[in-house]
Amino acid sequence: MNTYGRFPIALERGEGCRVWDSEGKSYLDFVAGIATCTLGHAHPAMVQAVTEQIQKLHHVSNLYYIREQGELAEWIVNHSCADQVFFCNSGAEANEAAIKLARKYAHVVQEIQYPVILTAKASFHGRTLATITATGQPKYQKDFDPLMPGFEYVPYNDIEALENAIGELDEGNRRVGAIMLEPLQGEGGVRPGDLDYFLRVRKICDEVGLLLILDEVQVGMGRTGKLWGYENLGIEPDIFTSAKGLAGGIPIGAMMCKNSCNVFEPGNHASTFGGNPFACAVGLAVGRTLLAENLLQNVQARGEQLRKNLRALTKKAPNVFAEVRGWGLINGIELHTTAGFSSIEIIKAAMDEGLLLVPAGPQVVRFVPPLIVSADEIEEATDKLERALSRL
Ligand SMILES: *Cc1c(COP(=O)(O)O)cnc(C)c1O
Repeated sequence: MNTYGRFPIALERGEGCRVWDSEGKSYLDFVAGIATCTLGHAHPAMVQAVTEQIQKLHHVSNLYYIREQGELAEWIVNHSCADQVFFCNSGAEANEAAIKLARKYAHVVQEIQYPVILTAKASFHGRTLATITATGQPKYQKDFDPLMPGFEYVPYNDIEALENAIGELDEGNRRVGAIMLEPLQGEGGVRPGDLDYFLRVRKICDEVGLLLILDEVQVGMGRTGKLWGYENLGIEPDIFTSAKGLAGGIPIGAMMCKNSCNVFEPGNHASTFGGNPFACAVGLAVGRTLLAENLLQNVQARGEQLRKNLRALTKKAPNVFAEVRGWGLINGIELHTTAGFSSIEIIKAAMDEGLLLVPAGPQVVRFVPPLIVSADEIEEATDKLERALSRL
């Protein structure tokens, strides 16, 4: 269906941080399947996990216990603040699961008849009806109303607005039950969460008895240089979600929570494919490789290198670039509205130079390479971007 505005190439093959199109042209891949290909393309650990698991068992349903699902859940619980994991197949589904859990918690624990979830303006939480409603960007909601009831929006990183919204919403039975935020807004323009803001949000949630849900779909699984985005903010969520990079580009989603808010019982939620042996075995291989190869250190070092290079580029072209933002290997460079071109035009020029990039809105170019990216590849990408700019 006509749902995607596509670039005019078809990719056929990949290795590490490089991909080749059907004409044989090679590109440095700083999109990584939109922040999913954690270990790049054709990584031996993934090839091995995929091959072994498909030969053994790939799908059986959740009617039975699944060893690989238990192992991946155990890995996540051992390496995060979570006690419980629910598996599904995508980010939107993981957020749907979080929304359902928060609503049940509101009914059975908070005793709110009409629970409201506060989300942030400029957020992104997915494309299902509940998650486009959670998404605080009208462009994703247009023509799809009536939207899901029970969501309200506040500006991101603005504690006063949040406090006011919680106070004002206390009308009739309508009350805030949960706050759902991205630790760093990805699609909304690569905006990192403010430390003080998140510390206050956590405190408010504790004082008022609200659940804090963090959408880690894009930033989780090492992308920020920490395993989870919330580690950059000095707080722990009650519920968080993961998907994109969790199995290195094999479809998977997960919703994690602490024991204190796990109100689900058998029959409350389910997914036919969720937690299948195949996706979970690959997720486990990705997680183990991330830690065994010290990739978090690489993410931190390469991220700093990239931001330094992009800031140097900003100095060279101060009329084009306004700001460089990001954590680890999720970074954005923001264009001035007066730059004379949009992020898409830079991305097209970069593609001609053999560098793949992805926009985060009309003003921001996003850099989300595989977490295995090398220092040389960061230099190569910067050079290619600079050459692309000189052609605009
Ligand atoms: C990509 C993304 C989603 C949606 O994930 P899908 O797998 O496309 O459903 C949700 N939240 C955030 C923060 C994302 O970046």
